[in-house]
Amino acid sequence: MKRQTAATSLRQAQTKSESIFDTHPEVRLDFSQVKAALATGYQKPFLLIDTAIIRNKARRFKAALPRVHPHYAAKANPDPHVLKTMIEEQVGFEIASIAELDMLMQLGVPATEIFYSNPMKARAYLEYAASKGVEWYVLDSVEELRKIVSIKPDAKLYLRIDTPNIGSDWPLAGKFGTHLGDVAEIIEEAVRLKADLAGVTFHVGSQCRNPQNWRVGIERAKQVFAEMRNAGLKPRLLNIGGGYPVRHTKPIPSIEVIAEVINEAIADLPADIRVIAEPGRYLVSDSACFVCRVVGTATRNGKRWMYWDAGIFGGLIEVSEGLRYEIHTERKGSSVPWSIAGPTCDSVDVLMQEEMLPNDLQENDFIFIPNTGAYTTSYATTFNGFPLPDVRVL
Ligand SMILES: *Cc1c(COP(=O)(O)O)cnc(C)c1O
Repeated sequence: MKRQTAATSLRQAQTKSESIFDTHPEVRLDFSQVKAALATGYQKPFLLIDTAIIRNKARRFKAALPRVHPHYAAKANPDPHVLKTMIEEQVGFEIASIAELDMLMQLGVPATEIFYSNPMKARAYLEYAASKGVEWYVLDSVEELRKIVSIKPDAKLYLRIDTPNIGSDWPLAGKFGTHLGDVAEIIEEAVRLKADLAGVTFHVGSQCRNPQNWRVGIERAKQVFAEMRNAGLKPRLLNIGGGYPVRHTKPIPSIEVIAEVINEAIADLPADIRVIAEPGRYLVSDSACFVCRVVGTATRNGKRWMYWDAGIFGGLIEVSEGLRYEIHTERKGSSVPWSIAGPTCDSVDVLMQEEMLPNDLQENDFIFIPNTGAYTTSYATTFNGFPLPDVRVL
């Protein structure tokens, strides 16, 4: 009997059911550790991180994608403990700013292992990164190509191309990525400038639940490699970006299912092409639980409102883009619809409408949100005078 690959059955399952999803169990922080952390006191919202889970996710990523070296997207969670864990697991890095570069270099990361993957870089930032020894820089326009080369003529460059973001919770297409129709012009200009345009990258969009987006991105990258070789360039990097999803309330394809698609697509790449990826969310999200507290409740016109001490500005901004977190409490009352808001006076600081939660929730009750290690504390601000959440590390 012919073995059916997960990728094939995924395509077939798309119309039938989602049974193929979650073929491998996802992990979360042990709740007893959250309780133990709370027992030491509560002053303000905090994120509790278990670095052992980060290690396991890094190992799982590498096991699923043996040819693909992960370079962590520092923006997902730049806590020094998180960064140190990545370093210990021999994970490289991807940055967008020189503050991120400084943080990593202070921890001893060699500049050569840091990829500058922000397609739009200030001249002063480029000069600084070049002076520190960063070698690899992304671009997605002729203008950025000229800018980088004017500062660092021997830079190793990779071209960010446009790729479908279908099925991603945070589609990025449009903001960045060279349109395929513009690739020839960029290659021509690189040849004219004698620039080392040596790679291709793409980003399928964050929390991408459609593995086929990576296949399309890799197919397009191969076409661009061929164009580069024809022009006399020497391509040697494929960077398949970030976007690997984590489990919240919606089903996701596991990294192993996504890896089947990617591994098949890269199988025929020449051995001298180095393949890297830029996972952010995937490596850190499952490692942490966010804890906040009910400041108060209010009933207005028959509608129940609940205000937390952390909202859109205090770490939970991803709900505004449609991410649905799991929310846990210790109340056992029957479920009723609640509107939930953060503590600030800004009208955008509303987290959820009609969220079904226990009817007996009240002032000072704790709220537990698992799998929140990514894009929470790194987004938080002190708007309206409310403190940043604490990061506590196990
Ligand atoms: C944000 C970002 C990533 C990480 O994305 P995730 O969805 O967290 O995996 C990777 N590469 C680039 C260029 C990014 O901007």
